[in-house]
Amino acid sequence: MTLSEETKQNCRAMLLEMRRDLLSEAKANRQSNSGRDYLGDLCDWAVSEMEAEYVYMIGERLRQKLFLIEEALDAIENGDYGICAECGEPIDEKRLLLMPSTLLCVRCQSELERQARMRGQLAA
Ligand SMILES: [Zn+2]
Repeated sequence: MTLSEETKQNCRAMLLEMRRDLLSEAKANRQSNSGRDYLGDLCDWAVSEMEAEYVYMIGERLRQKLFLIEEALDAIENGDYGICAECGEPIDEKRLLLMPSTLLCVRCQSELERQARMRGQLAA
């Protein structure tokens, strides 16, 4: 089962739009971040530390999303888009249209989330 050209083009268009949105979000973050440098009040030190952490986390989240989008776009170019990176089974077309940056099929994704939850419980 291969994806139709139409589905691939739809996913590609969505991915490019997601990438554009993410990049402008990242830019907005940087701008509000550099604006804070002018407010270098020592009394706000603790707050700023927390904010720096927050901005860093947002940056990390954006980078990760961007990475997935780039991977998916690459896969479309290479013709292996829509194949689960974990088990090699085709990913459901409806799932791709809902979440074009996904690299995993539903089964592997939920397995991964289950493991992440278990790790979270162990760490807690
Ligand atoms: Zn899979």
